[in-house]
Amino acid sequence: MNQQKMYLANLTAGAFAFALAACSPATEPDPAEPDHPGIDLIVEGSYVVTMDDGGTVYQDGAVAIDEGLIIAIGPSADINAEYSAAQTLDGESRIVLPGLINGHSHAAMTLLRGVADDLALMDWLNNYIFPAEVEFVDTEFVRIGTELACWEMIRGGTTTFVDMYYFPDTIAEIVDSCGMRAMISATVIDQRSPDAENAGDSIQKGNGFIERWKGKNSRITPIFGPHANYTLNADQLKATRQAAMELGVPISIHISESPFELQYSQDTYGMPSIELYESIGFFEGPTIAAHVVWPTKEEIPILAERKVGVIHNPTSNMKIASGISPITEMLDAGVRVGLGTDGAASNNDLDLWEEMRLASLLQKVDRMNPEVMSATTVLTMATRGGATAIGLGETIGSLEVGKRADIIQVTFDDVHHVPTYDVISHLVWVTDEQDVTSVTVDGKVLMKDGEMLTIDTNRVAAEAKELAARIQAALAERNRAQ
Ligand SMILES: [Zn+2]
Repeated sequence: MNQQKMYLANLTAGAFAFALAACSPATEPDPAEPDHPGIDLIVEGSYVVTMDDGGTVYQDGAVAIDEGLIIAIGPSADINAEYSAAQTLDGESRIVLPGLINGHSHAAMTLLRGVADDLALMDWLNNYIFPAEVEFVDTEFVRIGTELACWEMIRGGTTTFVDMYYFPDTIAEIVDSCGMRAMISATVIDQRSPDAENAGDSIQKGNGFIERWKGKNSRITPIFGPHANYTLNADQLKATRQAAMELGVPISIHISESPFELQYSQDTYGMPSIELYESIGFFEGPTIAAHVVWPTKEEIPILAERKVGVIHNPTSNMKIASGISPITEMLDAGVRVGLGTDGAASNNDLDLWEEMRLASLLQKVDRMNPEVMSATTVLTMATRGGATAIGLGETIGSLEVGKRADIIQVTFDDVHHVPTYDVISHLVWVTDEQDVTSVTVDGKVLMKDGEMLTIDTNRVAAEAKELAARIQAALAERNRAQ
C-alpha cells in the first residue's frame, strides 16, 4: 500500500474509532473507589484527534497528563471518573490535537520580515540577507527575534521547531524560558557570519554550544546546522558530520533547494546534491534535510533508505521560486516528510496551517490531480510525520499514552467553521492561527484562552519595533550613501 493510501486507510480507521468512542457509555465515578489519583492536567475536547497509527478520534474526549507525560486518553467521562487534576482545560467547541511541528526555521529572522521580497534565492541571500545579517545580527537581535518567533509560533499552535541561526546559546535560553520544544542548530558556514569567521571556527564554536546544552533541558536538543553544499565544501561537510557523530547529535541542513544548487553541485562535484552527500558518507548519522525540491529519480530511494527527514517548505519554495518539490513521489517511496515555514524573511510568517494548505494545493495543481495530498496526509506531515522526520517520533507527534504532552486546542466556534461535518477537513482547510486557544508543551500550559503565559508580549513587541526602527534607519542611511 502506498503512503497516500495508507493515510486514507488511517482516516477510515479513525472514523471507525470515532464511531466507537461516540457510542461508548459514560462511566460513572465509583464512590467506593478511594483511589482517585491527583494529576497535573486534563485537556478536554469536543473532539480529540490523536493522530495515532489507527487515526483514532474521540468525541467528547480528554487527555490526562502528569509530570509532562500523557498517562491516559479516552472519553472525557472516563478520564474525569478516573482522575482529578489540578487544572482542566475546558473542551466545549474545542478540537484537541498534537502540537504542530515546524521542521525548518530561522526563528530570529522575524526581525527581517519584509526587508527584501520578490527576489531569487542567490540574489536574495548574497545581496540582501547575508550582508544585513553581518551588519545587524548580534545576541540582542537573536534574543528579541527568537522571542518574537516563539510568541508567533505558540500563538499559532506550534509546539516544536527545528532552528538554524546564529548565537545558538541565546536561542536556547529563549526556548528554555518560553517553554517550547526545539532542536537548535549551531550554524556552520564557510564565510564571515555574525558569530564565526569561517567553517572551522563555526564547527569549533558549535562543539562548545552542544557540550553546554546536551542533556541540560529535555525540551532542547542541540544539533549542528551546516548551511549547504554551496557555502561549504565536501571536506567541511564531512568534518561537520564527524563532529556531530562524536557528540552524538543530528544534523539539519538545506539540501537540493534551488536550480542554482543543482547546477552548482553538478559543476563542482560532478553529481547532484543527494548523490554527493551519499558518496561522502554524510547520511551515516541522522539528517533533517530542508527543502529537497530537486531530487533526481535515483536520489529519492537514497533518502528513504537513509531515513533522511525531508522538510517541505511550500511557501518559501513558491515565494523564492525555488520550484515544486516532488513530495507525492517521496511519500510513495517511504521518505519521512514533515513541514516547515523556513525563515520569516522568505515566508513571511510562521503559520503551519498555511503551510498545510499550500503543501496540498501545490501538489494538486502541479499534478492536475485533486486526489493527491489529502487533508489527513498534510495534517500527518505537520504532526506525527514531522516528529518522525526530525527523529522525535517516539516522544511527540501524536496523543498516545507514554508520549510527552505537547497538545493544542482549536476552537470551532468561529463562523468559518460552521457547520462542522469533518474535523480533519476543517483543521486543514479552514483553521487559522487565531483559532488556536490553548497550547501545552511537556505538560505545561504556555497559552490559555489565547493569553500567553510565558512571554511578556508587550515587552517583546516594543523591543522588536525599537530594533526594527534602528535597522530601517541604518538601511536608509546606506541607501543615501550609495
Ligand atoms: Zn532555510
